[in-house]
Amino acid sequence: MNTEEYVKLIFTHMVCSCCDEPFTPDCVEIIRVEDNVAVVKIVCQNCHKNYGIAVIGIEDIENENVIEDYVQIPDLPPITTDDVIEAHDFIDKLGSDWAKYIPDELKELPKENE
Ligand SMILES: [Zn+2]
Repeated sequence: MNTEEYVKLIFTHMVCSCCDEPFTPDCVEIIRVEDNVAVVKIVCQNCHKNYGIAVIGIEDIENENVIEDYVQIPDLPPITTDDVIEAHDFIDKLGSDWAKYIPDELKELPKENE
């Protein structure tokens, strides 16, 4: 699976919030792929709603197991664009004390240089 196929696969697990149809690979236009990031444009091919540009991380693309794990997520509802918008709203409203949401045990992980 190449990077473009992988990125398109991610979006085919989502549905359009406008018409509830799953996105197809044709809904995803790959604009640019850099080291660990892909820039894509999402347009529903069913109702033609334009979701604009998305930037997604593709750090683990070489790890086939990650892809397998992703594809085999059991019995979870697909992520909708409403879920994404909700996440954006949540992030937008985070104050300067955002670190309070990080569990204490994760704050104690060793730093990379140690
Ligand atoms: Zn649609």
